[in-house]
Amino acid sequence: MHFFKKIAFLSLVFIIAFFIAELINIDDFIYNNKQVEKVSEISTTKKKPELKCFKGVIGSGKTIYEIFAEKKVAHTEIMKLIGSFKNVCDLTKVRENQTYSFFLTPLKEIKKFSYKKDILSSYIAERDGNEFTVLKKDIEFTKKIVAKSFKIKNSLYNSIVSQKETGTLVNKIANIFSWDIDFYLDTKEGDKIKILFEKFYKGEKLVKYGNILSVQYIAKNKVFSAFYFKNGKSRGYYDEKGRPLKKLFLRLPLKFGRVTSKFSIRRFHPVDKRYKAHKGIDYGAPIGTPIFATADGVVSFSGRNSGYGKLIILRNTNGYKTYYAHCNRLLVRKGAKVKQGQMIAKVGKTGKVTGPHVHYEIRYKNKPVNPSTMITSKSKPIRKHLKKNFIEIKKSRLALVESLLLKKQFYLTNMKKEIKGNKG
Ligand SMILES: [Zn+2]
Repeated sequence: MHFFKKIAFLSLVFIIAFFIAELINIDDFIYNNKQVEKVSEISTTKKKPELKCFKGVIGSGKTIYEIFAEKKVAHTEIMKLIGSFKNVCDLTKVRENQTYSFFLTPLKEIKKFSYKKDILSSYIAERDGNEFTVLKKDIEFTKKIVAKSFKIKNSLYNSIVSQKETGTLVNKIANIFSWDIDFYLDTKEGDKIKILFEKFYKGEKLVKYGNILSVQYIAKNKVFSAFYFKNGKSRGYYDEKGRPLKKLFLRLPLKFGRVTSKFSIRRFHPVDKRYKAHKGIDYGAPIGTPIFATADGVVSFSGRNSGYGKLIILRNTNGYKTYYAHCNRLLVRKGAKVKQGQMIAKVGKTGKVTGPHVHYEIRYKNKPVNPSTMITSKSKPIRKHLKKNFIEIKKSRLALVESLLLKKQFYLTNMKKEIKGNKG
């Protein structure tokens, strides 16, 4: 029995020793394997060509071609990349402040290229052999239709920003009413704005404002309304009767006139006998021909002004001014309110001139703008067969504003139903 006990004990010791050895081995194995892995990692990175990453923001007037050419990427390579975007997005029309990044191999091959067009869409091109595979990455967002009402306290800006909206929304509203309300002058404390508009969110974050669907400016004695409407191919804002909101400057300050000198950055001045910018348009007409205000405004100057001769300056809405120069007679005084089409002066040849004409100038924030470019953006009247549609849209939006304001709800368009939520 003793003998058997000894054998049993020895075999137990042996088995334990074996296991200990095994354990050490296993540890060893794991450790070795790690080393192998590390070594192989190092060796593969050594084999991999080193990629260089470039990131940037597109500068003013810069092209994608120039960005790659500056990094010594070959013409054919750049053209191949641009070509691979052909049916996805036009890489030849990139704009200032868009962002990009790309990886180049030491041989100046493009490995990967990302381009962020705007806050909602970006593109990725990856090298696939000798070609590029381009993917559009849409950023998912939620569109909310929100109703808000603002009471004017000291300014439109403060009233809106104090309700957790941004200056972008303020500008959008000011643009819509730019011909009807001068937000620097006409707003009075206690006026109200009711607005129905789209907001795009990514998660909880506001990404951008969409369209303003309707807006009403409620002053003491008058309500200005604007409704966004797709009028066939064109789209824009219309008042409650369906008239386009964008009222333009009259094309001419005269009933009839012949352009004798156009707007230009440089022209030969017939009196000064040297090259000078011409900041307006000259219309030749006989002395005494009536001159009309091209837009509503307040007379901010009426009198003599050296080279301009007898001059009238009108302050129109939202930063616009119009100049009527070289007049024979001035018919309105400083401070007078004038209406579009009202006679304000008569053609003369006062100041620096060679013959009778009116020099007509438009300034925006005191910078001369070409009057002929002011004529282009006219909203078309609503077409007859769309009138009924417009009235329905107008009614439903007005009703939606009231109901959303009352219930303090917003409308989540991607869910096609109203859900409860905080305003904004
Ligand atoms: Zn002129």
